[in-house]
Amino acid sequence: MARKAKQVAACSICGKPVQEAYKPFCSKRCADVDLHRWLSGAYVIGGESVEEEPPSPPAAEAIRRGPKA
Ligand SMILES: [Zn+2]
Repeated sequence: MARKAKQVAACSICGKPVQEAYKPFCSKRCADVDLHRWLSGAYVIGGESVEEEPPSPPAAEAIRRGPKA
């Protein structure tokens, strides 16, 4: 099995070949995209799961009760 001497990594954002100047991304744009993802992700990971359960919407409750309850 012959291994390729140099394997070009693919940008994890868009899959294009990584550019040396923007490793590990193909462009600044993708680097920015990843940064934003990371920041938003870090928020969830860092601060113990932020309450994601939305408070029961009043509309749903009204439907559950029904007008002819
Ligand atoms: Zn990219």
